[in-house]
Amino acid sequence: TTNGLNNSERQSEKLLGGLLASGFDEKSCLSRYDQSMRKPSLYKPSGYLVSKLRSYEMLHKRCGPGTKPYKRATKQLGHNELRSSGDECRYVVWMPMFGLGNRMLSLVSVFLYALLTDRVMLVDQRNDITDLFCEPFPETSWLLPLDFPLTDQLDGFNREHSRCYGTMLKNHAINSTTIPSHLYLDIFHDSRDQDKRFFCEEDQAFLGKVPWLVVKSNLYFVPSLWMIPSFQTKLIKLFPQKETVFHHLARYLFHPTNQVWGMVTRSYNAYLSRADARVGIQVRVFSKPAGYFQHVMDQILSCTQREKLLPELATPETQVTNTSRSLKLKAVLVTSLHPEYSDHLKNMFLEQPSSTGEIIEVYQPSGEKIQQTDKKLHDQKALAEIYLLSLTDELVTSTRSTFGYVAQGLGGLKPWILYEPWEKKTPNPPCVKAMSMEPCFLRAPLHGCQAKTIKITPFVRFCEDWKTGLKLV
Ligand code: GDP
Repeated sequence: TTNGLNNSERQSEKLLGGLLASGFDEKSCLSRYDQSMRKPSLYKPSGYLVSKLRSYEMLHKRCGPGTKPYKRATKQLGHNELRSSGDECRYVVWMPMFGLGNRMLSLVSVFLYALLTDRVMLVDQRNDITDLFCEPFPETSWLLPLDFPLTDQLDGFNREHSRCYGTMLKNHAINSTTIPSHLYLDIFHDSRDQDKRFFCEEDQAFLGKVPWLVVKSNLYFVPSLWMIPSFQTKLIKLFPQKETVFHHLARYLFHPTNQVWGMVTRSYNAYLSRADARVGIQVRVFSKPAGYFQHVMDQILSCTQREKLLPELATPETQVTNTSRSLKLKAVLVTSLHPEYSDHLKNMFLEQPSSTGEIIEVYQPSGEKIQQTDKKLHDQKALAEIYLLSLTDELVTSTRSTFGYVAQGLGGLKPWILYEPWEKKTPNPPCVKAMSMEPCFLRAPLHGCQAKTIKITPFVRFCEDWKTGLKLV
């Protein structure tokens, strides 16, 4: 044995405690089984989650693209008055909306919904998803075939569309005797009360009969799935540790392509692997115009020094004279659209020694300046940086940034969250430690059918960084 592990322990670590299925071709997707850069997770998936994933994989293989049930199901599209034979396959189609972080959060949410409702999840492949992620399901495909009968209509699904569930409720066009063959669900930050009826038990009873659901969302809506009574029973069994939902499902679903993994490993080996400790700092500036601001720079320093993530600069009195052998190296990975924050940090620790004698190495992989979602290389860099952040030991993120949420969840890290500056001032305190590693559902429905449940559910709290958002703890 090496590393004190025997063969079966090593196999289990490679498969993340049973989370991943074995048997994929390793070379075509190196990230899938490569745990060499990551510390083993502190969180093990439950046996029930593992068996649920294996049965989901069987379902997907039976109902996936190219199968007879898939063909039958696509033929039904456009017909109402369905003959329901009970054993037919049902589907949920995910569409990419907004930035990469938003997309990864909604994809995990839709996948959990598929697990809970025994649907097959298929993803729209017309953007660059295949440049970013490998296939997660064995011996089948998660890609919605390009000849899917509704392909031409997918982009046109919006709030005004006659097949939008919220709009149909509004127009009293839903009656429980006619089951439509497909519906569009709109789950955005600005969705209407009717759209949010998706989170109500009785609406789920109806939606469960609809063979095809198409979801567009930019949110992590998992916390509100927990407050649907019939789902909660299953969820408690699947995730006895409630804050592990995203951590497990994201590690199950997302395996960067070899091109992206190359970027991750090259950066890691060049700048992070030799360090004694790694700190990640994700700087997202939402103000308009965005860019470099002194108050944000001050906030980053104030937070990292106060929380002892970075040392102070030495004064002549505090300067430590150290022998080179005992010098500790701390690598600081900065990700931001703006290169100036890391430039400033780098200069600071170049021009003056640190008070602890630690060597601080600052690295920022890219500084793209503006968001360019759907440009292949831009999105690949964004994904590589999310992964690099997840490989750090301590993480600092920015308020309400889904980019940071994904990194913390993948890494199993509870970050320090930089509060959103107001009136161009450094907030005081500058940051807050997250209660859990879960992403925040930034616009959870607070007033509808779940209003009472929110108050009495101990494991759902208002987010640290967004007062009206909800997260699992
Ligand atoms: P959010 O807007 O912060 O919630 O995160 P999203 O990921 O949904 O959207 C922001 C997009 O801007 C990302 O997907 C990237 O395309 C780009 N972006 C923002 N911050 C960074 C960063 O630190 N590094 C890189 N490479 N891209 C970033």
